[in-house]
Amino acid sequence: MKFTDLGLIEPIQRAVREQGYEIPTPIQAQAIPAVLKGGDLMAGAQTGTGKTAGFVLPMLQRLQSHAAPRDARGRIMIRALILTPTRELAAQVEESVQTYGKHLALRSMVMFGGVGMQPQIDKLKRGVDILVATPGRLLDHHGQRTLDLSHVQIFVLDEADRMLDMGFIHDIKKVLAILPQKKQSLLFSATFSDEIKALADRLLNQPALIEVARRNAPAEAVAQRIHPVSRERKKELLAHLILQGDWHQVLVFTRTKHGANKLTEYLNKNDITAMAIHGNKSQSARTKALADFKSGDLRVLVATDIAARGIDIDQLPHVVNFELPNVPEDYVHRIGRTGRAGASGEAISLVCVDEEIFLRDIQRLIHKEIAREVVRGFEPDPNEKAEPIVLGRMTIGVGANRRGGHNGNGARPARAPQGRAPNPGHASRAHPPLHGTHAPRDARAPQRSESRAGSAPRCTPGRRRARCLGRRPPAARRTRPLSRRQAAQVRKPAKMSLRSGMKKLR
Ligand code: AMP
Repeated sequence: MKFTDLGLIEPIQRAVREQGYEIPTPIQAQAIPAVLKGGDLMAGAQTGTGKTAGFVLPMLQRLQSHAAPRDARGRIMIRALILTPTRELAAQVEESVQTYGKHLALRSMVMFGGVGMQPQIDKLKRGVDILVATPGRLLDHHGQRTLDLSHVQIFVLDEADRMLDMGFIHDIKKVLAILPQKKQSLLFSATFSDEIKALADRLLNQPALIEVARRNAPAEAVAQRIHPVSRERKKELLAHLILQGDWHQVLVFTRTKHGANKLTEYLNKNDITAMAIHGNKSQSARTKALADFKSGDLRVLVATDIAARGIDIDQLPHVVNFELPNVPEDYVHRIGRTGRAGASGEAISLVCVDEEIFLRDIQRLIHKEIAREVVRGFEPDPNEKAEPIVLGRMTIGVGANRRGGHNGNGARPARAPQGRAPNPGHASRAHPPLHGTHAPRDARAPQRSESRAGSAPRCTPGRRRARCLGRRPPAARRTRPLSRRQAAQVRKPAKMSLRSGMKKLR
């Protein structure tokens, strides 16, 4: 199949040709006709498959074929909204809108936080057809009444799985409530969890279903390898690999912002130019790091999972997992940065003894054993014992609070490690606390809180004060037993809050 067979109008075909694309990727071949028909779509496409053009090209065509509505002052109104989880992805998607729509007269705009609102307000006032936005800033504008979404005809939720991972579900619901009922909705996600399916049920109306890659499959073009190494020698090994391999564009993943900063410092000290990109960096610093990395001025970009989402670099040859992610799906997202659109790439993971359980989960997810190769001179110490991994207030991995690691039956931790450790009900329900572990104090005291739910009142500062003053203790309701529904709430695992905990670290 060729682009000429997809029923796209000439100006769009020309723009695609100018990009050097000849053959549509599988997601494009299926999504473009489906979107052109006007129906809803649920597409399972991993990153790097060409999914952006898959929804942007037909969207441009549909908008082009209808006259834009105008407000009382004659300004064009927003007709298409693309929601993305990160600023980087929003910027890249909007760049694609401009590239593919360069021979059309449609106006687009990108909107995200971390930069001033006024320029965005000014741009909105001039009229926009296609808005690409992250949820937070979009809602800010809506709250300030600087944005009118009442004429949106096409809505795209891009990388929906990551949106949920980042705790955006409430924002997404708010956005859905603002949008008109009648619209074409497209949902793109690399993975299909039950949460995604629930979201799709809510958003989509008899959608066409497209899945181009195996569920949770890593990009086939990516060669994966593991280098076992001692915990303390990872930095050294990374520098060795970069220098020996003469690598010039390496994306390195760490689990935390702090880890990213420390590693960047080490690499720079060893004459390897590196910059970190994570949630604590200003938008301008993130944009600069990305631009320098893309242009080849920067050899290494050290990123956390959230910051790296959506980074699209043509022909990125090397991705290194300096630390394995504790959420196996993140591994798939990470290595999807390389081997994009048919190019070959290499994903290397430096794995120490602490991370063996993460590795086991990843291999289980991708249904594949990843090749191991010990680098000479960096043989891991066979006597090194696994230690729990501390992520802020959480401790995960071997020997840690079992909610975050494996239980004795070899059950996977699933997404528990992302969770809020102090959720008492969940902790006690899932696994009893272990003695002699390094789990954080609040995670090790589950029963106490659960029994608190329906028994004697705690001695809170308020009650103590009331007792001193001879008053009736406040919050008598606390001493009342909880209803069954309330008790269920107490015990319910608070997934999203757990995730926001992780978000802080990334
Ligand atoms: P995406 O999955 O949308 O992030 O796209 C990944 C990369 O594939 C981008 O760098 C696109 O420029 C490129 N790409 C998209 N469609 C095609 C195509 N049909 N042929 C070649 N490259 C493409």
